[in-house]
Amino acid sequence: MRIILFGPPGAGKGTQAKLIEKEYNIPQLSTGEMFRSAIKNQTPLGIKIKDILDAGKLVPDQTVVELVEEALNDEKFLNGYILDGFPRTVPQAKAFEERLKKNGKKLHSFLSLEVPDEELMKRILSRGEGRADDTPEKVKVRLEVYNEETAPVLNYYKQQGVYRAIDGLGTIEEIYARIKKVLDN
Ligand code: AMP
Repeated sequence: MRIILFGPPGAGKGTQAKLIEKEYNIPQLSTGEMFRSAIKNQTPLGIKIKDILDAGKLVPDQTVVELVEEALNDEKFLNGYILDGFPRTVPQAKAFEERLKKNGKKLHSFLSLEVPDEELMKRILSRGEGRADDTPEKVKVRLEVYNEETAPVLNYYKQQGVYRAIDGLGTIEEIYARIKKVLDN
């Protein structure tokens, strides 16, 4: 299965992606985690994008698309994957669709975790992961960036017919049960 786990910052994409990964044995690919790891290891990519992540802005499309294209070539993703944090703009979604088409593959589901803005801010500020972009000012920027640049991706996938809304309020287990219901259908 090829799955996109979509949603605003703080919606629980990473947590749910890890649960799907474990139960369905499909590897997850998180662009945010890849970027944070590049920064931590001070790779050329990490040095280039550190200020962007710290500010809560988006890494340029071309950089993200190239990184994901290369990462997905790993044979562990041959039978499927869960994308967490990608695509985050319409050009990224289009580039990804092109890739699928070129390889004769299809997306199984686009799962959209839906959570109101007030709840997102609360969740991020209380999660205590020590991320440099988890301060109130940065979260505000990330939510603005989400609404302006990322939310249009929803409409793009609604048109493709693979969009599934998941109520993202409740416990981790409750939310996961909703995801499972969609995936098992
Ligand atoms: P995340 O862990 O998904 O919240 O991502 C953390 C940060 O990484 C974001 O605020 C962006 O700066 C950057 N990032 C992650 N994925 C993308 C993407 N698909 N496009 C652009 N920037 C991204």
